Amino acid sequence: MFSKFLSGINFIARCRKYGLGLWECPNFLFIVMGVVTIVTMVGTYFLSRQFSDEGITIMSVTVEAVLIVTIGSFVISGVEKVAEANILKTEFVSIISHQLCTPLSAIKWSMEVLETEREADCKFSEKQKMFLGNIKKSNEQMLKMVTDLLEVARIDQGRAIFEDKELDLSNLVEESVAGLMRSAKEKNVQISLRIEPGLSRVCVDERKIKVVLDNLIGNAVKYSKNGGKVEVGLKEENRRIVFSVQDWGVGIPKFQHSRVFEKFFRSRNDSRYRTDGVGIGLYLAKAILKHCGGEVWFDSEAEKGSTFYFRIPVPAAKNA
Ligand code: ADP
Repeated sequence: MFSKFLSGINFIARCRKYGLGLWECPNFLFIVMGVVTIVTMVGTYFLSRQFSDEGITIMSVTVEAVLIVTIGSFVISGVEKVAEANILKTEFVSIISHQLCTPLSAIKWSMEVLETEREADCKFSEKQKMFLGNIKKSNEQMLKMVTDLLEVARIDQGRAIFEDKELDLSNLVEESVAGLMRSAKEKNVQISLRIEPGLSRVCVDERKIKVVLDNLIGNAVKYSKNGGKVEVGLKEENRRIVFSVQDWGVGIPKFQHSRVFEKFFRSRNDSRYRTDGVGIGLYLAKAILKHCGGEVWFDSEAEKGSTFYFRIPVPAAKNA
C-alpha cells in the first residue's frame, strides 16, 4: 500500500514511463498545481493580515486564480496528449492488422489449393507434407491474432457491428470444440462436453460469440499441461444460458486476478513465454458478452487450474 503511494508520487519515473516531458505530464502538473494552490493561499492569508487594503487581497486572489487556470490548461493538454496517443495506438494496431490480413488470407487460400492438389496426385514427400502442415498452422494462428486485433480496434472505436440472431449455443460449442481438437491432440489433452438437452435459444451475433467460445476453450487447452483434461459445460439456470470451461492447468496467481480481463494482459505464469497470444482474447470476450447483456467471470488458482464461466440471458419473449 505504502509502496504504491510512493510510486504514485514518484512523478519523474511515471512521466518517463509514459514518454512525456514534465510540462506535458499530468502527474507532475497535478503536484505543481497543488503546491501553487497551497503557496498562494498561505500567501494571500499573510498578505491580508499584513495589509488591511482590500485591493491587495483582491489582487493576490486574482493572481492565484490566474496561476491555477494556467496550470489547469497545461494539465488538460497533457491529458489530451495521453488520450491522443491512445487513439493513435488503436489506429496503428487497426492499420497494421488490416495490412496483414490480406497477405495472410492469400497464404491461407494458396495452402488450401496446395492441399487439394496434394490429395489429387499425392506428389509431396513426407517432409514436404510436414512443412506444409507447419505453415498452415502458423498461418492460422497469425490470422486468428490479426482478426482478434481488428475486432478489438473496432470495439474500442465503437465501430463493431453486431448482427444478433436467435440461435442454439450447443451447436456453436460443439463446433468450437471440434475446431480445437487438433491442438488438444497435440498436447494429449482430453476435452469432454456436458451439454444439457433442450436449452433455450439466445440472441447473439454468431461470429462474435464463436470468437468468445474459441478463446475460452482455446485458453483451457493452451494453458493445460500435457496429458491434462478440459471439461466444457452448457446448461440453463434462471432464464440464462451458463457456459463453463474447466482445466487443471497452470492457473492464474491470485494477485493477478483483477487484471485478467485487461487489454494485452498476460499472466506471469510459466507458460507466458511458451504459449502464443497477445492478451486480447479475454478482453474481447468480456466486451462481446457485455453487448449481449451477459457477463464473464472465473475461478483460478496457480498450479491447480481455472474455470471460466459466462452467462447470457434468454430473450423474454421466447419464455412466454
Ligand atoms: P492470451 O492470448 O495471452 O491467451 P487472453 O486474453 O486469452 O490472452 O488471456 C489473458 C491471460 O490470462 C493469458 O495470457 C493467461 O496468462 C491467462 N489465462 C487465460 N485463460 C487461462 C487459463 N485457462 N489458465 C491459465 N491462465 C489463463
